[in-house]
Amino acid sequence: MKRKTVLISTRNSGKLEEFKSILSSAYDEILSPADFADFPEIEETGSSFMENALIKAAAASEFLGTDALADDSGLEVFALGGRPGIYSARYAGPGASDAENNEKLLAELEGEENRRARFVCCVALALSDGARKFFEGQCRGRILRRARGKGGFGYDPVFYVPEHGKTMAELSPEVKNAISHRAAACAKLLSYLSGR
Ligand code: IMP
Repeated sequence: MKRKTVLISTRNSGKLEEFKSILSSAYDEILSPADFADFPEIEETGSSFMENALIKAAAASEFLGTDALADDSGLEVFALGGRPGIYSARYAGPGASDAENNEKLLAELEGEENRRARFVCCVALALSDGARKFFEGQCRGRILRRARGKGGFGYDPVFYVPEHGKTMAELSPEVKNAISHRAAACAKLLSYLSGR
């Protein structure tokens, strides 16, 4: 059954487009903070992907009184002990651009042979009746020595997906949205929604 409205609590336009495309079969209307002049700024003060996702989803659900979804996601690099992790968006400092974050990552990994990494996504669903649910997904790959490709956002140009022989930024949106960490978490969400 298709549900009416969901608010996706993110100001990241790359993420929002991916959510819209992955979840269009499940919801009639997908809103985001950009649709509201008075949407509150939400600080991500949690210490895990799950906590941050919940903070964003719960605040959005309280604001609109409807079901709300948020993800907290990021890149974990094995040779860096899992960094940048929950700090992926601000790795090179507050307000850092994607290019600055990628540059910092490539510099930190210079000379490092172990390039293994994974994207992680935790989606929190805050239901208007107060219930909370979590869905996690991951996508494994390697960090290249230089950026390749123009698609996607964030670390996509340096994240190589061995099964496709391409970086995330070289994949079409259709392929990225079928194999990404966000797609994996949303597949679990969709399966949960179909059983409700
Ligand atoms: P958040 O908005 O706090 O969840 O920050 C997520 C950050 O993780 C983004 O700003 C990107 O730097 C990174 N990230 C998450 N998902 C992706 C993705 O699909 N591709 C590339 N980078 C991502």
